[in-house]
Amino acid sequence: MESHAVVIKKTPYQDRKNILTLLTLEHGLISCLIQNRGSKDNLLTIIASPFSEALFTLNKKNSLYVCKEATLVDAHLHLRESLPAFQSAAKLLKALLISQPRDKPIPHIFQLFLIYYVEIKNTDNPLAIAASFYLKILLIEGLLHLDLVCTLCKKNPSTSLSSGQSFCKTCFPEGSLDKESFKTIYQLTTTKSLQELKLIQVTQTLLFHIEKEFLTLLN
Ligand SMILES: [Zn+2]
Repeated sequence: MESHAVVIKKTPYQDRKNILTLLTLEHGLISCLIQNRGSKDNLLTIIASPFSEALFTLNKKNSLYVCKEATLVDAHLHLRESLPAFQSAAKLLKALLISQPRDKPIPHIFQLFLIYYVEIKNTDNPLAIAASFYLKILLIEGLLHLDLVCTLCKKNPSTSLSSGQSFCKTCFPEGSLDKESFKTIYQLTTTKSLQELKLIQVTQTLLFHIEKEFLTLLN
């Protein structure tokens, strides 16, 4: 089969082989064995690196795919030129590895990933992309139930996110954010426009908060 994929992870395996974790449209995350053809094969080394987007020709052997051929689509080298862009892209990859099963088509997440992944180079604010990706995965997985009004008292504005639900300062004082930060989380979760996403300012602290919630809900 031929598969348009992004390399999510690379693990050395035996002599001159690697196991790649690929995100594919047809099968979601899969593992694929790829043989190095010697140190002079630079193109294959680039293709087999995390962040690369390529067309892979794969054969399935038991539960593992074996790469027969690969053609580079885009090495996404710009991601290695800016630290915030690199960090955000790495978080997108990490979010997939943590949240998604193997060998199960995830077309919705695949599309979202590609749109966000490409958008990293068009934005001055790549942290918003990583934050929104975390939140949208939680939403797609049915783990996030956000409301601008507190889930418990149904009266006060929400200021904190915990266990995938929204609470006000009175009902849930721990880890409470300011009202604006909560609104930002809400916007990052619900926005359907890249133009809008570009304008949402996300600090490292807020991203850290969202990432922590993501990891807690998926563990
Ligand atoms: Zn409340």
